[in-house]
Amino acid sequence: MSEPDPSETLFERIIAREIPADIVHETSTTLAFRDISPQAATHVLVVPKTRYRNVGELAAADPELLADVIATAHRVAELDGLVDGGYRVVFNTGADAGQTVFHVHAHVLGGEQLGFFGRYGDESGAG
Ligand code: 5GP
Repeated sequence: MSEPDPSETLFERIIAREIPADIVHETSTTLAFRDISPQAATHVLVVPKTRYRNVGELAAADPELLADVIATAHRVAELDGLVDGGYRVVFNTGADAGQTVFHVHAHVLGGEQLGFFGRYGDESGAG
């Protein structure tokens, strides 16, 4: 049998505690842990414990679980003191968006003024 693709199994292995992660919150259905390469003062990933490849598949299959992921993202924002200042929740979906791990995850970003985002290499937010 061939080796599993690491991009397919990384977050399952964090959920199973086979790979260490800085876990900030856990519920019966979700896990939140700090991104290994943070893009903001707070950068936390929220994953459902059941694997779907992306947010569209999750929404179609289990909207209640998607709501759990969003609720956990908000809880993370509360725990990191982001609610008053504001925060961003991002689901990269597919290659054009730069998704690299195909176990759906919400990025929770905040703790400082965030930049614009959109077109590759364009920081202006224009267009
Ligand atoms: P994507 O590009 O799929 O939207 O996001 C995947 C995220 O997973 C990236 O922000 C990347 O830094 C993060 N990541 C990749 N490997 C690890 C790891 O082993 N541990 C943690 N905590 N985050 C990881």
